[in-house]
Amino acid sequence: MDTFDQNHIWHPYAKIPNSVKAHKVLSAEGVYLNLEDDKRVIDGMSSWWSTIHGYNHPTLNQALTTQLSKMSHVMFGGLTHDPAIELAKTLVDITPENLSKVFFTDSGSVAVEAALKMALQYWHNKSQAKKHKFITIRGGYHGDTFGAMSVCDPDNGMHHLFSGVLPQHFFVKSPSMVSMDEALADLEITLKAHSDNIAAMILEPVVQGAGGMRIYNPQYLTKAKALCQQHQVLFILDEIATGFGRTGELFALEYVDVEPDILCLGKALTGGYMTLAATLTTDEISQRVGTLMHGPTFMANPLACSVANASIELLLNSPWQDNIADIETVLSGELSSLKSHDKVADVRILGAIGVVELTQEIDVEKVQNQLIEHGVWLRPYGKLLYTMPPFTISKQELLLITKAIKIVIEEL
Ligand SMILES: *Cc1c(COP(=O)(O)O)cnc(C)c1O
Repeated sequence: MDTFDQNHIWHPYAKIPNSVKAHKVLSAEGVYLNLEDDKRVIDGMSSWWSTIHGYNHPTLNQALTTQLSKMSHVMFGGLTHDPAIELAKTLVDITPENLSKVFFTDSGSVAVEAALKMALQYWHNKSQAKKHKFITIRGGYHGDTFGAMSVCDPDNGMHHLFSGVLPQHFFVKSPSMVSMDEALADLEITLKAHSDNIAAMILEPVVQGAGGMRIYNPQYLTKAKALCQQHQVLFILDEIATGFGRTGELFALEYVDVEPDILCLGKALTGGYMTLAATLTTDEISQRVGTLMHGPTFMANPLACSVANASIELLLNSPWQDNIADIETVLSGELSSLKSHDKVADVRILGAIGVVELTQEIDVEKVQNQLIEHGVWLRPYGKLLYTMPPFTISKQELLLITKAIKIVIEEL
Protein backbone atom coordinates (compact mmCIF):
# COMPACT_ATOMS: atom_id res chain seq x y z
CA MET A 1 0.00 0.00 0.00
CA ASP A 2 1.27 3.43 -0.93
CA THR A 3 1.31 5.53 2.23
CA PHE A 4 2.55 8.61 0.34
CA ASP A 5 -0.68 8.63 -1.64
CA GLN A 6 -2.76 8.25 1.48
CA ASN A 7 -0.91 10.97 3.39
CA HIS A 8 -0.19 13.59 0.73
CA ILE A 9 -2.63 13.41 -2.17
CA TRP A 10 -6.25 14.48 -2.16
CA HIS A 11 -8.71 12.20 -3.94
CA PRO A 12 -12.25 13.27 -4.96
CA TYR A 13 -14.38 14.25 -1.95
CA ALA A 14 -11.79 12.84 0.45
CA LYS A 15 -9.56 13.97 3.27
CA ILE A 16 -5.84 13.71 4.05
CA PRO A 17 -4.84 11.31 5.44
CA ASN A 18 -7.52 9.33 3.70
CA SER A 19 -9.18 6.76 5.94
CA VAL A 20 -9.92 4.59 2.91
CA LYS A 21 -6.95 3.52 0.82
CA ALA A 22 -7.03 4.12 -2.92
CA HIS A 23 -6.44 1.02 -5.04
CA LYS A 24 -3.48 1.36 -7.37
CA VAL A 25 -4.12 0.72 -11.06
CA LEU A 26 -1.10 -0.60 -12.98
CA SER A 27 -2.73 -0.68 -16.40
CA ALA A 28 -6.11 -1.00 -18.06
CA GLU A 29 -7.33 -2.91 -21.11
CA GLY A 30 -10.82 -3.26 -22.57
CA VAL A 31 -13.26 -3.23 -19.65
CA TYR A 32 -10.58 -4.34 -17.18
CA LEU A 33 -8.50 -2.43 -14.64
CA ASN A 34 -5.33 -4.25 -13.60
CA LEU A 35 -4.74 -3.49 -9.93
CA GLU A 36 -1.62 -4.24 -7.92
CA ASP A 37 -1.36 -7.64 -6.19
CA ASP A 38 -2.52 -9.30 -9.42
CA LYS A 39 -6.12 -8.23 -9.02
CA ARG A 40 -8.13 -7.66 -12.16
CA VAL A 41 -11.52 -5.97 -12.00
CA ILE A 42 -14.22 -5.05 -14.54
CA ASP A 43 -14.78 -1.31 -14.51
CA GLY A 44 -18.53 -0.98 -14.00
CA MET A 45 -18.21 2.81 -13.70
CA SER A 46 -16.58 3.64 -17.07
CA SER A 47 -14.33 5.90 -14.97
CA TRP A 48 -17.38 8.06 -14.15
CA TRP A 49 -19.42 7.87 -17.37
CA SER A 50 -16.50 8.41 -19.71
CA THR A 51 -14.67 5.31 -21.04
CA ILE A 52 -17.47 4.16 -23.33
CA HIS A 53 -15.18 2.11 -25.61
CA GLY A 54 -13.06 0.62 -22.81
CA TYR A 55 -9.39 1.22 -22.08
CA ASN A 56 -6.34 1.09 -24.28
CA HIS A 57 -8.39 1.06 -27.46
CA PRO A 58 -6.12 0.75 -30.52
CA THR A 59 -8.10 3.31 -32.58
CA LEU A 60 -8.06 5.92 -29.84
CA ASN A 61 -4.41 5.23 -29.03
CA GLN A 62 -3.57 5.70 -32.71
CA ALA A 63 -5.45 9.02 -32.89
CA LEU A 64 -3.39 10.31 -30.00
CA THR A 65 -0.01 9.15 -31.32
CA THR A 66 -0.74 10.61 -34.75
CA GLN A 67 -1.63 13.97 -33.23
CA LEU A 68 1.27 13.79 -30.75
CA SER A 69 3.76 13.66 -33.63
CA LYS A 70 2.32 16.95 -34.96
CA MET A 71 1.74 18.95 -31.77
CA SER A 72 0.30 18.20 -28.36
CA HIS A 73 -0.83 21.71 -27.59
CA VAL A 74 -0.96 25.27 -28.87
CA MET A 75 -2.79 28.23 -27.38
CA PHE A 76 -6.23 28.82 -28.88
CA GLY A 77 -6.03 32.61 -28.60
CA GLY A 78 -5.33 33.78 -32.16
CA LEU A 79 -4.45 30.25 -33.33
CA THR A 80 -6.58 27.35 -34.51
CA HIS A 81 -6.12 23.77 -35.73
CA ASP A 82 -7.84 20.98 -37.65
CA PRO A 83 -8.69 18.74 -34.67
CA ALA A 84 -10.77 21.55 -33.11
CA ILE A 85 -12.39 22.52 -36.42
CA GLU A 86 -13.30 18.93 -37.22
CA LEU A 87 -14.69 18.34 -33.73
CA ALA A 88 -16.78 21.52 -33.74
CA LYS A 89 -18.23 20.55 -37.15
CA THR A 90 -19.13 17.11 -35.83
CA LEU A 91 -20.74 18.46 -32.66
CA VAL A 92 -22.82 20.96 -34.63
CA ASP A 93 -23.79 18.11 -36.93
CA ILE A 94 -24.90 15.57 -34.30
CA THR A 95 -26.63 17.93 -31.84
CA PRO A 96 -30.02 19.68 -32.44
CA GLU A 97 -30.40 21.83 -35.60
CA ASN A 98 -30.50 25.14 -33.74
CA LEU A 99 -27.06 24.71 -32.13
CA SER A 100 -24.29 26.02 -34.35
CA LYS A 101 -21.63 27.69 -32.17
CA VAL A 102 -19.10 25.87 -30.01
CA PHE A 103 -17.01 26.93 -27.03
CA PHE A 104 -14.39 24.38 -25.89
CA THR A 105 -13.33 24.06 -22.26
CA ASP A 106 -11.12 21.70 -20.33
CA SER A 107 -13.72 20.21 -17.96
CA GLY A 108 -17.43 19.73 -17.50
CA SER A 109 -17.67 22.19 -14.63
CA VAL A 110 -16.06 24.87 -16.76
CA ALA A 111 -18.42 24.07 -19.65
CA VAL A 112 -21.26 24.80 -17.20
CA GLU A 113 -19.57 28.05 -16.13
CA ALA A 114 -19.35 29.08 -19.80
CA ALA A 115 -23.04 28.22 -20.30
CA LEU A 116 -24.06 30.34 -17.30
CA LYS A 117 -21.88 33.22 -18.55
CA MET A 118 -23.43 33.04 -22.02
CA ALA A 119 -26.89 33.36 -20.45
CA LEU A 120 -25.82 36.31 -18.26
CA GLN A 121 -24.06 38.14 -21.08
CA TYR A 122 -27.04 37.52 -23.38
CA TRP A 123 -29.49 39.28 -21.08
CA HIS A 124 -26.99 41.97 -20.14
CA ASN A 125 -26.60 42.87 -23.80
CA LYS A 126 -30.37 42.86 -24.24
CA SER A 127 -30.45 45.55 -21.54
CA GLN A 128 -32.08 43.15 -19.10
CA ALA A 129 -29.22 42.85 -16.61
CA LYS A 130 -31.71 42.21 -13.83
CA LYS A 131 -32.05 38.71 -15.27
CA HIS A 132 -29.05 37.35 -13.40
CA LYS A 133 -30.41 34.37 -11.46
CA PHE A 134 -30.80 30.75 -12.49
CA ILE A 135 -33.55 28.22 -11.95
CA THR A 136 -33.04 24.47 -11.71
CA ILE A 137 -34.73 21.31 -10.48
CA ARG A 138 -33.77 19.72 -7.18
CA GLY A 139 -31.50 16.68 -7.19
CA GLY A 140 -29.21 18.06 -9.89
CA TYR A 141 -25.45 18.00 -10.23
CA HIS A 142 -23.52 20.36 -12.51
CA GLY A 143 -19.95 20.36 -11.23
CA ASP A 144 -17.70 21.64 -8.47
CA THR A 145 -16.70 25.18 -9.48
CA PHE A 146 -18.57 28.04 -7.83
CA GLY A 147 -21.10 28.84 -10.54
CA ALA A 148 -21.77 25.15 -11.16
CA MET A 149 -22.01 24.45 -7.41
CA SER A 150 -24.64 27.15 -7.03
CA VAL A 151 -27.05 25.20 -9.27
CA CYS A 152 -26.37 21.77 -7.72
CA ASP A 153 -28.96 20.38 -5.31
CA PRO A 154 -28.65 22.64 -2.26
CA ASP A 155 -29.05 19.78 0.24
CA ASN A 156 -27.70 16.70 -1.51
CA GLY A 157 -25.26 18.40 -3.87
CA MET A 158 -22.15 17.96 -1.67
CA HIS A 159 -21.79 21.72 -1.43
CA HIS A 160 -24.02 22.84 1.46
CA LEU A 161 -20.84 23.86 3.28
CA PHE A 162 -20.60 26.80 0.86
CA SER A 163 -24.24 27.81 0.94
CA GLY A 164 -23.44 31.14 2.63
CA VAL A 165 -20.94 32.06 -0.09
CA LEU A 166 -22.82 30.87 -3.16
CA PRO A 167 -25.22 33.06 -5.10
CA GLN A 168 -28.80 32.06 -4.30
CA HIS A 169 -30.82 30.68 -7.19
CA PHE A 170 -34.29 29.17 -7.59
CA PHE A 171 -34.81 25.48 -6.92
CA VAL A 172 -38.04 23.85 -8.04
CA LYS A 173 -39.46 20.37 -7.57
CA SER A 174 -37.89 17.65 -9.69
CA PRO A 175 -40.02 15.39 -11.90
CA SER A 176 -37.76 12.58 -10.62
CA MET A 177 -39.16 13.04 -7.09
CA VAL A 178 -42.74 14.28 -7.54
CA SER A 179 -45.24 13.77 -10.38
CA MET A 180 -44.53 15.58 -13.64
CA ASP A 181 -47.63 17.75 -13.19
CA GLU A 182 -46.59 18.80 -9.69
CA ALA A 183 -43.06 19.60 -10.91
CA LEU A 184 -44.39 21.64 -13.84
CA ALA A 185 -46.80 23.54 -11.58
CA ASP A 186 -43.94 24.47 -9.26
CA LEU A 187 -41.84 25.60 -12.22
CA GLU A 188 -44.69 27.70 -13.61
CA ILE A 189 -45.43 29.41 -10.27
CA THR A 190 -41.76 30.26 -9.78
CA LEU A 191 -41.31 31.53 -13.33
CA LYS A 192 -44.44 33.67 -13.05
CA ALA A 193 -43.20 35.27 -9.85
CA HIS A 194 -39.51 35.67 -10.67
CA SER A 195 -38.77 35.47 -14.40
CA ASP A 196 -37.79 39.17 -14.42
CA ASN A 197 -34.73 38.05 -12.46
CA ILE A 198 -34.06 34.70 -14.15
CA ALA A 199 -31.55 34.35 -16.98
CA ALA A 200 -31.86 30.64 -17.61
CA MET A 201 -33.05 27.27 -16.45
CA ILE A 202 -30.35 24.58 -16.24
CA LEU A 203 -30.98 20.85 -15.84
CA GLU A 204 -29.76 17.39 -16.75
CA PRO A 205 -32.11 15.80 -19.31
CA VAL A 206 -33.88 12.55 -18.28
CA VAL A 207 -31.19 11.28 -15.88
CA GLN A 208 -29.98 13.24 -12.85
CA GLY A 209 -26.51 11.84 -12.17
CA ALA A 210 -24.30 12.58 -9.18
CA GLY A 211 -27.15 14.42 -7.38
CA GLY A 212 -28.94 11.10 -6.78
CA MET A 213 -29.03 8.91 -9.93
CA ARG A 214 -32.71 9.56 -10.62
CA ILE A 215 -34.62 9.17 -13.88
CA TYR A 216 -37.63 11.21 -15.01
CA ASN A 217 -40.22 11.40 -17.77
CA PRO A 218 -38.66 13.11 -20.83
CA GLN A 219 -42.00 14.84 -21.55
CA TYR A 220 -41.10 17.18 -18.69
CA LEU A 221 -38.37 18.66 -20.92
CA THR A 222 -40.77 19.67 -23.69
CA LYS A 223 -43.13 21.33 -21.23
CA ALA A 224 -40.40 23.00 -19.16
CA LYS A 225 -38.85 24.39 -22.35
CA ALA A 226 -42.21 25.82 -23.42
CA LEU A 227 -42.70 27.46 -20.02
CA CYS A 228 -39.20 28.94 -20.16
CA GLN A 229 -39.80 30.29 -23.64
CA GLN A 230 -43.10 31.82 -22.54
CA HIS A 231 -41.35 33.58 -19.63
CA GLN A 232 -38.23 34.65 -21.57
CA VAL A 233 -35.88 32.33 -19.75
CA LEU A 234 -33.11 30.52 -21.64
CA PHE A 235 -33.05 26.71 -21.49
CA ILE A 236 -29.69 25.04 -20.76
CA LEU A 237 -29.29 21.27 -20.93
CA ASP A 238 -26.33 19.64 -19.20
CA GLU A 239 -25.65 16.41 -21.13
CA ILE A 240 -22.18 15.98 -19.63
CA ALA A 241 -23.16 12.62 -18.08
CA THR A 242 -25.97 11.56 -20.42
CA GLY A 243 -24.38 12.42 -23.78
CA PHE A 244 -22.90 10.00 -26.32
CA GLY A 245 -25.35 7.13 -26.01
CA ARG A 246 -25.49 6.44 -22.29
CA THR A 247 -29.30 6.60 -21.97
CA GLY A 248 -29.99 4.71 -25.21
CA GLU A 249 -30.28 7.85 -27.35
CA LEU A 250 -27.17 9.61 -28.64
CA PHE A 251 -28.24 12.55 -26.46
CA ALA A 252 -30.99 12.23 -23.84
CA LEU A 253 -32.71 15.31 -25.28
CA GLU A 254 -33.54 13.14 -28.32
CA TYR A 255 -36.19 11.30 -26.29
CA VAL A 256 -38.43 14.27 -27.04
CA ASP A 257 -36.32 16.18 -29.60
CA VAL A 258 -36.20 19.26 -27.40
CA GLU A 259 -33.92 22.06 -28.62
CA PRO A 260 -31.99 23.68 -25.78
CA ASP A 261 -30.67 27.24 -26.16
CA ILE A 262 -27.37 26.10 -24.69
CA LEU A 263 -25.96 22.55 -24.40
CA CYS A 264 -23.06 21.28 -22.25
CA LEU A 265 -21.05 18.19 -23.24
CA GLY A 266 -18.11 16.47 -21.54
CA LYS A 267 -17.17 13.17 -19.89
CA ALA A 268 -17.57 10.59 -22.74
CA LEU A 269 -16.71 13.25 -25.35
CA THR A 270 -13.14 11.93 -25.62
CA GLY A 271 -14.06 8.31 -24.88
CA GLY A 272 -12.64 8.91 -21.42
CA TYR A 273 -9.11 9.47 -22.72
CA MET A 274 -8.53 13.13 -21.92
CA THR A 275 -10.29 16.01 -20.27
CA LEU A 276 -12.35 18.08 -22.68
CA ALA A 277 -15.80 19.66 -22.67
CA ALA A 278 -17.88 21.87 -24.94
CA THR A 279 -20.71 24.37 -24.66
CA LEU A 280 -22.88 24.84 -27.74
CA THR A 281 -25.37 27.57 -28.48
CA THR A 282 -27.41 29.20 -31.24
CA ASP A 283 -26.63 31.89 -33.81
CA GLU A 284 -28.88 34.38 -32.09
CA ILE A 285 -27.44 33.88 -28.61
CA SER A 286 -23.85 33.97 -29.84
CA GLN A 287 -24.51 37.28 -31.59
CA ARG A 288 -26.07 38.82 -28.50
CA VAL A 289 -23.35 37.50 -26.19
CA GLY A 290 -20.68 39.27 -28.22
CA THR A 291 -17.23 38.75 -26.70
CA LEU A 292 -17.53 35.78 -24.38
CA MET A 293 -15.42 36.54 -21.32
CA HIS A 294 -13.75 33.17 -20.96
CA GLY A 295 -10.57 31.55 -22.34
CA PRO A 296 -8.94 28.61 -20.61
CA THR A 297 -5.20 28.05 -21.16
CA PHE A 298 -5.77 24.55 -22.50
CA MET A 299 -8.86 25.45 -24.53
CA ALA A 300 -9.47 23.00 -27.41
CA ASN A 301 -6.33 21.02 -26.65
CA PRO A 302 -5.39 19.29 -29.94
CA LEU A 303 -4.71 15.89 -28.37
CA ALA A 304 -8.08 15.96 -26.62
CA CYS A 305 -9.89 17.13 -29.77
CA SER A 306 -8.19 14.42 -31.87
CA VAL A 307 -9.17 11.62 -29.54
CA ALA A 308 -12.70 13.07 -29.30
CA ASN A 309 -12.96 12.96 -33.11
CA ALA A 310 -11.80 9.34 -33.12
CA SER A 311 -14.10 8.39 -30.25
CA ILE A 312 -17.23 9.87 -31.85
CA GLU A 313 -16.41 8.22 -35.17
CA LEU A 314 -15.87 4.89 -33.42
CA LEU A 315 -19.18 5.26 -31.57
CA LEU A 316 -21.23 6.26 -34.61
CA ASN A 317 -19.72 3.46 -36.71
CA SER A 318 -20.50 0.86 -34.02
CA PRO A 319 -23.87 -0.80 -33.38
CA TRP A 320 -24.10 1.33 -30.22
CA GLN A 321 -27.91 1.31 -30.07
CA ASP A 322 -27.94 -2.51 -30.10
CA ASN A 323 -25.11 -2.69 -27.55
CA ILE A 324 -26.88 -0.35 -25.16
CA ALA A 325 -30.24 -2.08 -25.66
CA ASP A 326 -28.51 -5.40 -24.84
CA ILE A 327 -26.97 -3.88 -21.70
CA GLU A 328 -30.37 -2.50 -20.66
CA THR A 329 -31.97 -5.93 -21.16
CA VAL A 330 -29.40 -7.63 -18.93
CA LEU A 331 -29.57 -4.91 -16.25
CA SER A 332 -33.40 -5.13 -16.18
CA GLY A 333 -33.43 -8.91 -16.20
CA GLU A 334 -30.88 -9.21 -13.40
CA LEU A 335 -31.58 -6.22 -11.16
CA SER A 336 -35.33 -5.43 -11.41
CA SER A 337 -36.31 -8.28 -9.09
CA LEU A 338 -34.21 -6.68 -6.32
CA LYS A 339 -37.07 -4.17 -5.94
CA SER A 340 -38.83 -6.54 -3.57
CA HIS A 341 -35.68 -7.12 -1.46
CA ASP A 342 -36.07 -5.75 2.06
CA LYS A 343 -32.73 -3.91 1.91
CA VAL A 344 -33.58 -2.26 -1.43
CA ALA A 345 -35.59 0.96 -1.68
CA ASP A 346 -35.67 1.24 -5.48
CA VAL A 347 -34.15 -0.04 -8.72
CA ARG A 348 -33.79 2.33 -11.68
CA ILE A 349 -32.61 1.32 -15.13
CA LEU A 350 -32.25 3.26 -18.38
CA GLY A 351 -29.94 2.45 -21.28
CA ALA A 352 -26.52 1.50 -19.95
CA ILE A 353 -27.30 2.76 -16.43
CA GLY A 354 -28.36 0.48 -13.58
CA VAL A 355 -29.04 1.91 -10.12
CA VAL A 356 -29.92 0.06 -6.91
CA GLU A 357 -30.93 2.39 -4.09
CA LEU A 358 -30.60 0.69 -0.72
CA THR A 359 -32.51 1.47 2.44
CA GLN A 360 -29.30 2.21 4.35
CA GLU A 361 -26.03 4.08 3.78
CA ILE A 362 -23.34 1.90 2.20
CA ASP A 363 -20.04 1.23 3.97
CA VAL A 364 -18.00 2.13 0.88
CA GLU A 365 -14.70 0.57 1.94
CA LYS A 366 -16.27 -2.71 2.97
CA VAL A 367 -18.54 -3.03 -0.05
CA GLN A 368 -15.80 -1.97 -2.45
CA ASN A 369 -13.44 -4.61 -1.09
CA GLN A 370 -16.14 -7.25 -1.45
CA LEU A 371 -16.80 -6.17 -5.02
CA ILE A 372 -13.10 -6.38 -5.85
CA GLU A 373 -13.02 -9.92 -4.49
CA HIS A 374 -15.77 -10.66 -7.01
CA GLY A 375 -13.74 -9.02 -9.80
CA VAL A 376 -15.76 -5.85 -10.10
CA TRP A 377 -15.04 -2.14 -9.67
CA LEU A 378 -17.95 0.04 -8.59
CA ARG A 379 -17.94 3.26 -6.60
CA PRO A 380 -21.05 3.36 -4.41
CA TYR A 381 -22.03 6.57 -2.65
CA GLY A 382 -24.67 7.26 -0.02
CA LYS A 383 -27.34 4.61 -0.44
CA LEU A 384 -26.57 4.07 -4.12
CA LEU A 385 -24.96 1.03 -5.66
CA TYR A 386 -24.88 1.55 -9.40
CA THR A 387 -23.20 0.72 -12.66
CA MET A 388 -22.72 2.44 -16.01
CA PRO A 389 -20.34 0.08 -17.84
CA PRO A 390 -18.42 0.64 -21.07
CA PHE A 391 -20.68 -0.03 -24.10
CA THR A 392 -18.21 -2.69 -25.25
CA ILE A 393 -18.83 -4.93 -22.24
CA SER A 394 -19.80 -8.55 -23.02
CA LYS A 395 -22.88 -10.20 -21.58
CA GLN A 396 -20.71 -12.49 -19.44
CA GLU A 397 -18.78 -9.54 -18.03
CA LEU A 398 -21.97 -7.62 -17.31
CA LEU A 399 -23.43 -10.66 -15.55
CA LEU A 400 -20.38 -10.65 -13.26
CA ILE A 401 -21.24 -7.06 -12.28
CA THR A 402 -24.93 -7.80 -11.59
CA LYS A 403 -24.00 -10.96 -9.71
CA ALA A 404 -21.53 -9.04 -7.53
CA ILE A 405 -24.20 -6.40 -6.82
CA LYS A 406 -26.63 -9.11 -5.70
CA ILE A 407 -24.03 -10.82 -3.52
CA VAL A 408 -22.99 -7.66 -1.67
CA ILE A 409 -26.63 -6.75 -1.04
CA GLU A 410 -27.17 -10.22 0.46
CA GLU A 411 -24.11 -9.70 2.66
CA LEU A 412 -25.10 -6.22 3.92
C1 LIG B 1 -19.51 15.31 -14.08
C2 LIG B 1 -20.52 16.32 -14.38
C3 LIG B 1 -20.19 17.70 -14.45
C4 LIG B 1 -18.81 18.21 -14.13
O1 LIG B 1 -17.85 17.74 -15.00
P1 LIG B 1 -16.30 17.75 -14.55
O2 LIG B 1 -15.57 17.34 -15.79
O3 LIG B 1 -16.18 16.78 -13.42
O4 LIG B 1 -15.97 19.14 -14.12
C5 LIG B 1 -21.20 18.59 -14.78
N1 LIG B 1 -22.44 18.17 -15.04
C6 LIG B 1 -22.79 16.86 -15.00
C7 LIG B 1 -24.19 16.47 -15.33
C8 LIG B 1 -21.85 15.90 -14.65
O5 LIG B 1 -22.20 14.62 -14.58
